[in-house]
Amino acid sequence: MKEFRLPPVITLSIIIIGCVASPTRIDKARLLSHVETLSSDIYMGRQTGTDGGIMAQTYVKNEMEIMNLNPCLETLQQPFSFNSRRSETQFAGVNMVGIVEGTGSSVKTMAVTAHFDHLGTRNEAVYNGADDNASGTAAMLEIARYFTLNPPVHTIIFAGLDAEEMGLQGARALVDSPCIMEREVAIDFNMDMISRSTKGELYVSGTRHYPGTKAVLEDLSPREGLTLLLGHDEPGTGSEDWTSASDHGPFHQADIPFLYFGVEDHPGYHQPTDDFQDITPEFYYQAAELILETILKFDAQLDSISFK
Ligand SMILES: [Zn+2]
Repeated sequence: MKEFRLPPVITLSIIIIGCVASPTRIDKARLLSHVETLSSDIYMGRQTGTDGGIMAQTYVKNEMEIMNLNPCLETLQQPFSFNSRRSETQFAGVNMVGIVEGTGSSVKTMAVTAHFDHLGTRNEAVYNGADDNASGTAAMLEIARYFTLNPPVHTIIFAGLDAEEMGLQGARALVDSPCIMEREVAIDFNMDMISRSTKGELYVSGTRHYPGTKAVLEDLSPREGLTLLLGHDEPGTGSEDWTSASDHGPFHQADIPFLYFGVEDHPGYHQPTDDFQDITPEFYYQAAELILETILKFDAQLDSISFK
């Protein structure tokens, strides 16, 4: 796990020109409002196949419709079914997948993914999943909104994924679909748990597999209250290796490079205490801005980057 800090000379000059160095593009109030809503008790923990899960699907779909995202498949909805790992029960999930067309002529596209499902209710406790993963879902939506207003050079696929908690099922269905298979997808940016860190630490995982991504990350503006750390992608380190831990896993298996953004496990991880009041809002906002800046940098250089 490698920590990356800018040399002191650069840090000093950033302090002097602070506002220029850290551009802001995302509406913070709207970002937080999505998280507050999706992690409220009426969503009942957003478990795939439950009423709360369907409410979460509808929320993401409505937001994509308001933004006028084009469908990546026939409609914004991608229904899929799968068998539970533990029983023979069949489950049905629905991904929400939209695209923003690029202004350039390159066939290379990028994917931005975040799962909206969570664990539901157990023993009358609601697992609200504010950080896991209302936070990534909200950032995906607000990054999509930015690009509808400021079109990218390369086409971007925005996906709210279902059934991550049941084994990355939505991501598997998306990667197997024509939306991904029939496009040249250069990279997946996956967000899962990006809003809660008392230490102000955001990890980006994947550079070990795709070292060509490092130079782009090292060029990001420093952000107050946020340290970006590279790591959690070393094979043989068990649960410390996050390569298959979230929806970027099926992309990686399909040889599509990924960068995964997330925080380390916290006391609320997979607990009923993963609540809106316990996220760290300023850190979260800076994380969302940093991820948007990352995507902008890749959009500008996508045709010349060699990922391996
Ligand atoms: Zn998650």
